[in-house]
Amino acid sequence: MEKIRKGDTVVVAKGRDRGKVGPVIKVIISSQKALVDGVNIYKKQIKPSKKYPQGGIIDMSQPIPVSNLRIICPNCKKMTKARFKNLGKEKRRVCINCKEILDVTNVNAK
Ligand SMILES: [Zn+2]
Repeated sequence: MEKIRKGDTVVVAKGRDRGKVGPVIKVIISSQKALVDGVNIYKKQIKPSKKYPQGGIIDMSQPIPVSNLRIICPNCKKMTKARFKNLGKEKRRVCINCKEILDVTNVNAK
């Protein structure tokens, strides 16, 4: 179980992009990193292709360590951390601040 998941809104707590907020696009469990939209942008030089007939330089987000991210709780709107809680048979993530469940919409999502 990961504490940060796809679809969470997160804020960067450390590093060059500190304070930036964005949605998690993807979590890379093997490297404990997450791809966050608009965060950790770098310029990538690309060759002409079907998608980019001119080639050139595009902005791309690079994954950043999950440990540098904090979830923004949809309930209390504060920067928070998730904690796991057993609810019957299920394990859910709860906000350590307001104690609300964070997985309202994607209970069974990985
Ligand atoms: Zn909360």
